Amino acid sequence: MQTYPIPMVPGPVRVPDQVRSVYQTDYGSADLETDFLELYNRTEERLRAILATRNPVVIQTGEGMLVLWGALKSCLRPGDRVLSVATGVFGYGFGEMAASIGAEGKTVGFGYDETLSRWDRIEDTIREFRPKMITAVHCETPSGTLNPLAELGEIKRRLGVPLLVADVVASAGGAPVLVDEWGIDLALGGSQKCLSAPPSMSFLSVSPAAWEVIREVNYPGYDALLPFQDAQKNFYFPYTPNWHGVAALHAGAGILLAEGLEAAFERHSRVSAACREGIARLGLELFPAPGAVSSPTVTAVRVPEGIPWPELDRRFRARGLAVGGSYGPLAWKVFRLGHMGSQADPGLVEQALAAIAASI
Ligand SMILES: *Cc1c(COP(=O)(O)O)cnc(C)c1O
Repeated sequence: MQTYPIPMVPGPVRVPDQVRSVYQTDYGSADLETDFLELYNRTEERLRAILATRNPVVIQTGEGMLVLWGALKSCLRPGDRVLSVATGVFGYGFGEMAASIGAEGKTVGFGYDETLSRWDRIEDTIREFRPKMITAVHCETPSGTLNPLAELGEIKRRLGVPLLVADVVASAGGAPVLVDEWGIDLALGGSQKCLSAPPSMSFLSVSPAAWEVIREVNYPGYDALLPFQDAQKNFYFPYTPNWHGVAALHAGAGILLAEGLEAAFERHSRVSAACREGIARLGLELFPAPGAVSSPTVTAVRVPEGIPWPELDRRFRARGLAVGGSYGPLAWKVFRLGHMGSQADPGLVEQALAAIAASI
């Protein structure tokens, strides 16, 4: 199995020793040992700090996509109206997922290189469509953009939409995610981005309004949220929890909190600014449109004319650099450098830029 000395894929990111070492322990049964419950509770506290919320945080086994499905299925019945505001692969995908489980979906769409704006268009659509839920994506990882969610939360409150669901998988821990201040009912996170853990866990904060809807819908699947409402109180989880996975999340969140969240956000901003400047210096073009907000966790770059993506990828890899391509309409057109969590490292970005310079 080949590993690359300059890992810059936007998730899963390089897992630091401190996180990897938790896999060396042969834990007992998470169903039986109160040590596990204490670890789960402490991990929840750390995730609440990272999400700036007083709401409970549910931790589930399975990587990021699990909580996207679980949140939709736990809150929606067929025919419920869902408005997706979309600026990229995950934003449009959210709308398709909701439609696939029978919701009546509507999408307010933007270009893949844009971030949310033209709030009057969103407001008008909400007034007319009266959705039960709005879905949005904070960091659109395939586009390298960061959507402003505070405005959306303000509109949601003012127009009385019951639920705002936000995918913060690729931003939580790398940029401020102010769940309570922004009015996010379900904030969805994963282990393999800024938390620097393997792709095995996901988590989401759940507001009181969301719990009410979840009780009413009473969805029973493997990814259901309802069994987690009293899981800690009763020490009864719906399936055997992944002790190693929770321990990894605990360690990954611990690294960010020991550094200090403000310092961690500043590190991500600084590293991403250096990355964007370096890319521009090489004569390459950033993907986000002028005026769109770039994400501090990932930089998306247009594949230069004349070098097909597989060839460029081969050249990068020959120099020890692994980056991400992109998805959907951006496949082959965009490559991405993930400077999130352990990879938000100035030295690493410098090495990546040198490898890119030698490849083009
Ligand atoms: C990574 C990511 C997810 C989770 O999807 P994966 O299957 O882990 O790639 C969800 N949303 C966003 C915005 C992500 O970046």
